[in-house]
Amino acid sequence: MTDKTTRAERLAMPLAREVVRDLAMEHGACIRPIQLRRRNLDTGEVDQVLVPCGNTLAAACPACAERARTLRAVQCREGWHLGDEPDVQPDPATEDQKWWITLRAEAQQHRDQAAAAGTDTTDFDELITELDDQITNSGIRGKAAPAKPARRHRSTRRRQDAPDLPRRKVNPRTVGKTYTAPDGKTFRPSLFVTLTCPSYGRVGEDGAPADPQSYKYDQAARDALAFAALFDRFVQNLRRYLGYDVQYFATIEPQKRLAPHVHIAMRGTVARAEIRRVLAATYNQVWWPSTSTVKYDGDQLPVWDPGTRTYLDPATGEVLPTWDQALDELGDQPHQVARFGVRFDAQGVLAGSKDASRCIGYLTKYLTKQVGDCHHPETDAARAHAARLAEALRCQPCTPTCANWLRYGIQPKNARPGLVPGRCKGKAHDPDHLGYAGRRVLVSRKWSGKTLADHRAERKDWLLSTLGVSATDPARYAWEAVAPGDPDHMDHARRLLHAVADRARWQAALIEARRRAADMGDMLPPRRAA
Ligand SMILES: [Zn+2]
Ligand SMILES: [Zn+2]
Repeated sequence: MTDKTTRAERLAMPLAREVVRDLAMEHGACIRPIQLRRRNLDTGEVDQVLVPCGNTLAAACPACAERARTLRAVQCREGWHLGDEPDVQPDPATEDQKWWITLRAEAQQHRDQAAAAGTDTTDFDELITELDDQITNSGIRGKAAPAKPARRHRSTRRRQDAPDLPRRKVNPRTVGKTYTAPDGKTFRPSLFVTLTCPSYGRVGEDGAPADPQSYKYDQAARDALAFAALFDRFVQNLRRYLGYDVQYFATIEPQKRLAPHVHIAMRGTVARAEIRRVLAATYNQVWWPSTSTVKYDGDQLPVWDPGTRTYLDPATGEVLPTWDQALDELGDQPHQVARFGVRFDAQGVLAGSKDASRCIGYLTKYLTKQVGDCHHPETDAARAHAARLAEALRCQPCTPTCANWLRYGIQPKNARPGLVPGRCKGKAHDPDHLGYAGRRVLVSRKWSGKTLADHRAERKDWLLSTLGVSATDPARYAWEAVAPGDPDHMDHARRLLHAVADRARWQAALIEARRRAADMGDMLPPRRAA
């Protein structure tokens, strides 16, 4: 090779940075490592530690997303066939937690005194909201006091078009029944259930409707928005109907027609006929104003009047009804009644079986992707379908404060200047989410008896003990974030190089530890064939 290379030759050479990035991915290293400064409190020694970014989306960091997915699979597996009641006694409150609750108590007292004296309570209400957030952040579940009761009372009478469900008292038991076969063997089956949205019109293989004109896009959009609430209803009904505290690990993902569906690993088993019965009785009603007529569209939009802090009709200057006024005028028809589709899938699964692994694979398959990223339209019809659904989602109000209410001639709750219908920033309107803005994994509280952090800590302990390394004592170190301006800040390229080196070293150590364990195994009596 001569010293001189042609431009073409140079272009054909791999780019160093890309090689590092690819190598990082190959080694399963985080590609966005975060730099922390670690100070040893005994010796004063300072070193730099790179911690993984922890992103759950493969598009952001494949290695971290894959680790998060496997952790969910572990969590799913551990709870599914639990034979003993999990221990979920809450920990006693820490000093920090007690301190936040004390502040919250004082704030409540001041607020109530102000209210009794007829003075403005806005500041106290804001303070209480902030303190509630702090209390949640400190690791306390629930609220210190229930939220203000809703101003309106809606009929809680069952809908006439939904069958009634017998109710049993819910027993605190969370584990399923054990069955004994004639040969004395016992087994405890659990269930894998998939629930879908109803039909909005027939769809083809590619997920696109056979007749786009009659496909119910608005209903599809509204159902996606209410999907999490509907799932909650189903669980409530199921528990009341079966009479025990049914536990679940569920994941929500889109079908090819881009409607959400939910896969549920359920502890214990239920007959299909019973699920059908619970499904038929399950619905979720949303009491919002009607969106059947579009009042303002295009460039004829309501205008904000800074004087009265209200939105006005652009032509007549008339004040639009406020959110509260619109609710006062609601009839006895809800804005929406969401239901699951009548078709569902349910199969019994035994602990440790191949089926169990396959189902856990299903349950966690798409967790590293955004909802809108799970399926890519392959035909023109499917692309047109995705576009029409996105348009329907853009126009549906996502919450009472959504700017889209202006489109239907109603001022959103807490109206403020600058609201433009169709431009709400709510996550649900984003094509990435397809109307579903909630969490992707829904786990009941008594599933495995452990939090995700507990599962993560167990995995770390396993790794450390396999490697024969003792964990660092957290009390001996102080950690600080390293800012871009700091003299010891490493740029991304350097961090990535370090991450690759760290990872390669760990992997080599793990292989070595496994080899040693295998050698030890050779000296032990051979394992009994299963
Ligand atoms: Zn990462
Ligand atoms: Zn919105």
